[in-house]
Amino acid sequence: MNTLYLKSFIRCKRKAWLDFKGNKSCKVWSPHQAIDKVKQYQIFSKLCNGEIYSGLKACKKGYQGVIGLKIKGKLFQNINAEIYPQLLLKTKGISKWGPYKYLPSVYKLGHKTTKEHLFDLAFSSILLESFQGSKIEKGLVISSFGNKVNLEEIYLNKKLRKKVLNVFLSLNECLEGSLPEITQDRKKCTICSWQKFCDKEAKENGYLTDVDGIGSKTASLLKTNGIFNTQILASYSEKQLGEKLSKFNFQNYEKASIFVKQAQAYISGEPHCISNKNDSFDLLGKTSSGFFIFDIESNPDEKHDFLYGFLKINKLFTTKEDLLYEPILNLKKYKGESYRQIIKILFSNKELPVLHYGETEKIAIIKIARNLNFSFEEIDSLTSRFIDLHILIRKSWILPLKNYSLKSVSSWLGFEWVQNNVSGSKALYWWIQYQTTKNKIFLKKIIQYNKDDCFATLQIAEYLIKNQLKKN
Ligand code: SF4
Repeated sequence: MNTLYLKSFIRCKRKAWLDFKGNKSCKVWSPHQAIDKVKQYQIFSKLCNGEIYSGLKACKKGYQGVIGLKIKGKLFQNINAEIYPQLLLKTKGISKWGPYKYLPSVYKLGHKTTKEHLFDLAFSSILLESFQGSKIEKGLVISSFGNKVNLEEIYLNKKLRKKVLNVFLSLNECLEGSLPEITQDRKKCTICSWQKFCDKEAKENGYLTDVDGIGSKTASLLKTNGIFNTQILASYSEKQLGEKLSKFNFQNYEKASIFVKQAQAYISGEPHCISNKNDSFDLLGKTSSGFFIFDIESNPDEKHDFLYGFLKINKLFTTKEDLLYEPILNLKKYKGESYRQIIKILFSNKELPVLHYGETEKIAIIKIARNLNFSFEEIDSLTSRFIDLHILIRKSWILPLKNYSLKSVSSWLGFEWVQNNVSGSKALYWWIQYQTTKNKIFLKKIIQYNKDDCFATLQIAEYLIKNQLKKN
């Protein structure tokens, strides 16, 4: 048993089991974990002023930061355990190596300190105490916002240690048993390396949380009403479901109707058109003289948009090769030049609408316009040209999909990315790699990814417009 299984177990029991016993060929590489590792190292190194070394030798020499240690030991009931402390940070004290000791430290990506951080520290401290021959009263949670590194002290009291040992026992029991159920809270799955494996099983078994809009709470409400899976949900009429759910303070009939239609589409594989002539007509009318597609790549933690991509379409349904894609890199968070280029493109034809998928692009353009001291009226006139296709597709179609992300919708429409297994997180990973190595190959990959995202957005626009043309 080790800390990695423990951390997985806290997130999802099934994940711990799969990490331990699952078929590794079903596991997919996760850019999130890779990003975490790179950032972790950068921050630890900054905190220790570069004095960061790996292994037991580093402890003996008393370096400020030690990484890459694997410590084995025995817990109660003679259970073997292993820890891989993220970082050991030198502090005052006495240990078997001399007049200093080490505190276990973990890295935190967001703002919230979670059970995962607390249990990791508490568990590490138990084995670390005998390893270094010194008591550990506290551990550290390390985070970074902007350029500042923050340290949060966590007191590793008896209560916390007892709790983690109980969790450890449950983990042991779980790993000896059979594969646990898929978690109810499917949000956790989005960054999990077993997602594809679990998604397949969820679809085969008709998991209710596979239906867009149904979270763990609604799923359990439906189950109490005898609706155990997507098939049963799809067999209901909207009225029947609305009546059933209204008894349970679930007053939104409209939502019930969407759940039924969404489940029906998911099972049949057929899209369902929601009558919304005006919006679709609007898109057709607005794009007939040409339009831009706009997509950005960002590092949300640093609030830095590092690439802005434009695709200009003069005429609908032209071949890909005839379209002009223009990437604008914003390498150093330096605003002036790239901002002016963006505005130049947008104002090269003031009338053309700007199609994008999701709210990020519009927010970015408002930021840029404010930065360039645009007046309120100018910002208003610029943003009125922006059309969010994500909103539009959700308003006009129920698709046979689990979600309405750009990847899901355009893949369903047959769009293929030039590079394999790509995602926004992978682009962010490439960006972090570029920042560290300055190797332009990573920029090329990011630009190719962004270009494909623009074309994927175009495919969705064409789908909406084609269907509008059919209706007319
Ligand atoms: S994909 Fe979801 S259910 Fe499957 S192991 Fe990961 S978190 Fe658990």
